[in-house]
Amino acid sequence: MSKIPFNNLESFYREHQNEISKIIHKVLKSGLYILGDHVQKFENVFAAYCGAKYAIGVANGTDAIELSLRALKINYGDLVATVSHTAVATAAAIERIGAVPVYVDINPATYTMCPKSLKETFEAAERRRYGACRIQAIIPVHLYGQSAKMTEICSIAKRYDVSVVEDCSQAHGSTFDDKKVGSMGIAGTFSFYPTKNLGAFGDGGAVVTSDPLLYKQIKRLRQYGWSDRRESEMIGVNSRLDEIQAAFLSYRLRYLNSENHRRRQIAKIYYQNLASLPLELPTITKNNFHVYHLFVVRIKERDELIEHLRRNCVAAAIHYKLPVHKQNAYFARALKAPNGLPNTEQICDEIVSLPMYPSLSDANALRVCEAISSFFK
Ligand SMILES: *Cc1c(COP(=O)(O)O)cnc(C)c1O
Repeated sequence: MSKIPFNNLESFYREHQNEISKIIHKVLKSGLYILGDHVQKFENVFAAYCGAKYAIGVANGTDAIELSLRALKINYGDLVATVSHTAVATAAAIERIGAVPVYVDINPATYTMCPKSLKETFEAAERRRYGACRIQAIIPVHLYGQSAKMTEICSIAKRYDVSVVEDCSQAHGSTFDDKKVGSMGIAGTFSFYPTKNLGAFGDGGAVVTSDPLLYKQIKRLRQYGWSDRRESEMIGVNSRLDEIQAAFLSYRLRYLNSENHRRRQIAKIYYQNLASLPLELPTITKNNFHVYHLFVVRIKERDELIEHLRRNCVAAAIHYKLPVHKQNAYFARALKAPNGLPNTEQICDEIVSLPMYPSLSDANALRVCEAISSFFK
């Protein structure tokens, strides 16, 4: 029996080989490899796609968060509320500028930031539970392809007068109340790491925003803090999107909706064929357009299921096994919501990600379902 891999990153290239070769050769022949027309063009089309005024191409999704926070003047020692159930990159970006993550619990049905835990965390900060420092920003993560509960999160942000930076690295094209992710906070950050819904042939990232000042600041920060005269107006970094990646991303963006549509079709096959089994399927909340970056199910016998799938030639994975606040680099000083992170800690032992990518065939999606069914027999 052929193996069903967890991902298949070369399939888009295989399908579009001729066009992609043309695009890459055009960039190579142009002699302009950094911050040229292709980056500018991609920034325009990606901003428009996200329903934002501006986009700034950067080197990766972690930098996109870091530069957004720096542009918002988040300083050393400031607190930033986020979740522990996320790619470690979210916390790494906060730490990079010397700010301190405060981990808020998640909703156990959607796996995204729990507004109630967020509210309690702000109240605890006011009572100086975390010392004299204030929470200056919130980073909700639109995990697995579904938006966090932005109405509640934005209303808490407004009440405490702090900025919301949306981590959209797993949710390109997802919407909440018909608004694209990335367009609801002051800024939205994206990664174009190859496995993401919009993936490049290497690293890449972007910030989208409709705030002209933030746009200008991030554009400067990504290149040594340079002004138009190439003099540093602020201390910046080197975090640029390559012309080759940008040219390819503009092309691939045209297929993002259909690739997301295909992910949703696969999800439908999973929902239909797994519904009667004793495992928890992803919950879609009202007004959410899920783009299934990952299809994550929950079961107590998680490790046994993964082993059973492996024996049946189906690769599965775990996102994520260890929450950030329990990882060696972070646990000793992790600040947590006043009622702790019970949901975050519980689900980590129960979640499993099934194969989910546009080139997964219906037949193979059904084979995944059969392999799971046979686990219960
Ligand atoms: C992938 C990812 C990032 C980081 O992106 P990189 O491009 O790898 O730096 C940040 N947040 C989340 C939720 C991600 O999935």
